Formats: sequence, structure tokens, C-alpha cells
Amino acid sequence: NREWHLLSRPVGWPKPEDFALVEAEMPVPGEGQVLVRNRYLSVDPYMRGRMSAAKSYVAPFELGKVMQGGAVGEVVASNAEGLAVGDHVLHFFGWREYAAVDARHAVKVDPEAAPLSTYLGVLGMTGLTAYAGLLRTAAFKEGDAVFVSGAAGAVGSQVGQIAKLKGASRVIGSAGSAEKVKLLVEEYGFDAAFNYKDGPVSEQLRAAAPDGVDVYFDNVGGDHLEAAIGSLNQGGRIAVCGMISVYNNTEPAPGPKNLARLIQTRGRIEGFLVGDHYDLQPQFVQEVGPWVRDGRLKYRETVVEGIENNLEAFLGVLRGDNIGKMVVKL
Ligand code: NDP
Repeated sequence: NREWHLLSRPVGWPKPEDFALVEAEMPVPGEGQVLVRNRYLSVDPYMRGRMSAAKSYVAPFELGKVMQGGAVGEVVASNAEGLAVGDHVLHFFGWREYAAVDARHAVKVDPEAAPLSTYLGVLGMTGLTAYAGLLRTAAFKEGDAVFVSGAAGAVGSQVGQIAKLKGASRVIGSAGSAEKVKLLVEEYGFDAAFNYKDGPVSEQLRAAAPDGVDVYFDNVGGDHLEAAIGSLNQGGRIAVCGMISVYNNTEPAPGPKNLARLIQTRGRIEGFLVGDHYDLQPQFVQEVGPWVRDGRLKYRETVVEGIENNLEAFLGVLRGDNIGKMVVKL
């Protein structure tokens, strides 16, 4: 049973020396627990925050101990009622091959209904983030023009497509490569897309959204947020989901200079955490599940094989190596 430990808190970009893949004892499931053999491990940008000591909405990872994260796996031994050997569960003990999991912290999932990995992505946490952030926080309504950054990633690709499926007048996305930009327009049906590395975001956004934007779904922060405020229409809303452009900064990033424009536009900017919106999960799966099954909502996953590559997969998410949800297959 191998598991990834955090050895030291990274400063700036995480380095391999900050981590170790450790051979650990096989966990023994106690009363009310199951032993799970993990099949897919999630790697997510928020994990960078847990590697730092700063208090946040989740506690920091402990030094010298195994890290945590979303995972799906197969029950191989059970001391819990309601879960049997051969069942599959979603739980929170990733970054390891085997985990002893309290049955009350495990959610049974059906591998026949959808591929196992999708419970971490398009039908899982990142999918719900897109759904709740767009529909609830940004109060999306038919006819809105929507701009989303990180648009080829797990959350962003779903934000754009849900907006289209629900009658957006125009959907614009930004991403970090020509390949990703092509995918947004040709496969996901975005009306316009640009590579933020090609030139100033504000200019590229103005060209892509000449009539402005009503909703900006922010995954990136920084110059993307500034550009979106500059293009915001009257009554526009900004849902602040993430700010990946600053996660590895050692100095505070300069902020948007045009925040006062929110006054003239009566614009609203609002942060949200997916954890507050799990009451939407049944509605989300009921509405989005059929779109995924019949292909109206498309998704990509970037699958890295092997627990030894768990760290590289995580660093790859921060670099942008992934298209869609990045998962590790064991
Ligand atoms: P993604 O699948 O979108 O992967 C992250 C992507 O960020 C990379 O693929 C990369 O793509 C892009 N990126 C990296 N650095 C930069 C940069 N400097 N500027 C612009 N883009 C960059 O991850 P998720 O979909 O899981 O997460 C997206 C965002 O949502 C993150 O900010 C995350 O923290 C946040 N989040 C927030 C939640 C909440 O509850 N509020 C819940 C889940 C996620 P590219 O090649 O385009 O640069």
C-alpha cells in the first residue's frame, strides 16, 4: 500500500522534494468501516492551498502524513452494514492505494450508470461547482452573455456548455493553448474563445464579446478578472470560483484597477464554495446526467496512470497539462 506524504510546505511552485511516495502498512478496517482499493484519485487546484500552513476553509495537510483528496474505489473488505465487497464508493481518502473508510463517509456509486472517473469530474465535485456557481451564485438567466476562464478545464468546460444548453446568447472562453481554444469552439460549442497567452486579456475579450458580458465565471483571477469587469454589462454578475493564477505566488498579486466600475454597472461579484451547495447535487445529476449520457454535454478527462505519478499529475493541473478533469488511474 503506497501513499503520498507531504514532507515540507512548498514555497512558490511545489518541488518533488516537498513530497514522498511512502510504503505504508495495509489499513485494517475497524467496526463500521470498509477497506477500499482506490481506482481513481482526484488531483485538484485547491490542494495547493492545503499544502500551505495558512488557515483556510479546510485544514492544512499535516507534515509527514498522507495527503487527502477525492477518490473512487472498490470495496475489498467490509465491516459495515449496507456496503458489500464489490461495491464502489466515492470518498475522501485519495493520494493512496488502499484506505479504511467509515461507511458514513463513503457514497456508493454505480459503475454501470457512468464511468467511475466521472464521479470525480463531470458528475462529481467539479461538475457541481460549475452548476451551482453558474446557476445559483451568478444567477444565470436565458439570454445572458457568459465569459468563463480556465474554460478547457474540468469546471470551466462545463460552465460554458451548461450556459449554452440553458440559452446563453453568447459564450466566450479563455484557455492557455491553441489546441484548447480549438476544442472550446469545435467540440464544446463556445461562440468564441481565445488563448490568454496570445495578448492582453482585455483586448482579446473585447474582440470576442463586442456587446459585453452579463456573467463572468472566474477560475483564474488577476488580469482575467480585471478584463471581465471592464467588459461587464449593466447588472452583470461575477462568480468568483477560483484564482489559479495566484496559487503559487510568493508576493500578493496586484489587484484589478477597475473595481469602481461595479458601481456604474450595479455589477455583482460574489465568491462561492461548492461545499455550500450540495443540496443541489440531486437536481444537478438529474439535469446534467442525461446531457452527459446522450452527448449534449461533452467532457474530456486527462488520465495519468499509476500512483507514482500522482504528484506529477497534480503539478500538471497547475501547469495546464490537463484538458478537462485530471484524474489518476490506479
Ligand atoms: P482545471 O481542470 O481547470 O485545471 C486548472 C487549469 O488552470 C489548468 O488546466 C490551466 O489551463 C489553468 N491555469 C493554470 N495557471 C493559469 C494561469 N496563470 N492563468 C490562467 N489559467 C491558468 O481545474 P478545476 O476545473 O478543478 O478548477 C478550476 C478553478 O476552480 C480553480 O481555480 C479551482 O481552484 C476552482 N475551484 C473552486 C471550487 C469552489 O468551491 N469555489 C471548487 C472546485 C474548483 P490553461 O492551459 O488554460 O492555462
